[in-house]
Amino acid sequence: MRLIMLGAPGAGKGTQAARLAEAYKIPHISTGDIFRANIKGGTELGKKAKSYMDQGKLVPDELVCDLVADRIAQEDCKEGFILDGFPRTIPQAEALDAALSGMNLKMDAAVNVDVPDENIVNRMGGRRACVKCGATYHVVYNKPAVEGICNTCGSELILRDDDKPETVQTRLSVYHEQTQPLIEYYEKAGILKTVDGTQSMDAVFEGIKSLLG
Ligand code: ADP
Ligand code: ADP
Ligand code: ZN
Repeated sequence: MRLIMLGAPGAGKGTQAARLAEAYKIPHISTGDIFRANIKGGTELGKKAKSYMDQGKLVPDELVCDLVADRIAQEDCKEGFILDGFPRTIPQAEALDAALSGMNLKMDAAVNVDVPDENIVNRMGGRRACVKCGATYHVVYNKPAVEGICNTCGSELILRDDDKPETVQTRLSVYHEQTQPLIEYYEKAGILKTVDGTQSMDAVFEGIKSLLG
């Protein structure tokens, strides 16, 4: 199964992608996580990506397309993969199509996790991320067992800089301008599936599984 998760920042793509990856036993590929790991590791890519991310803007297409093309060509992606946070622009979607057709493959579904802007602010403001393993929690909707500590690895949980209210608004506008057109792109391609992302995490997960049949 080759899946794309679409949706606004904070819609729940990462939460659902992690569950789906476990259920279908395929890798969860989050471009945001890849960039954050590069920033932490102090790589050239991390240095280039950081200023865009801090401002809530998209990292330029040329820094992300080849990276994803290389990742999906790896051995562990043979049985499928879940793309979370990529593509985010029409040129990225076209680059993905080109990379896949070079491997004689195509995507099976693009799952749109549909959440209106008014719910997003709440979701991102309450999101807490593990500094080490990238797991995400929510201060109200998905609390860790011990406040401020990751259930999985015991590390500290933080509020991402780009989840602060002043950046959230920029990220939402960027989403509407540059990413939302992908909904029509995948609808035309005949692989769009839309789930009501305002439901509980469990209900969204069940909804996606039934859409995927
Ligand atoms: P969220 O899960 O809240 O949508 P991500 O972790 O996916 O956020 O992304 C964080 C930031 O990383 C984005 O705001 C953007 O700056 C950068 N980023 C991630 N993926 C991409 C991409 N495919 N194209 C451009 N920028 C990206
Ligand atoms: P995205 O990857 O789309 O940016 P996340 O999966 O990181 O979004 O979710 C954003 C925040 O909202 C996190 O704090 C997460 O725990 C929480 N969240 C995700 N799905 C739901 C849901 N269905 N109901 C309530 N909160 C949710
Ligand atoms: Zn952790």
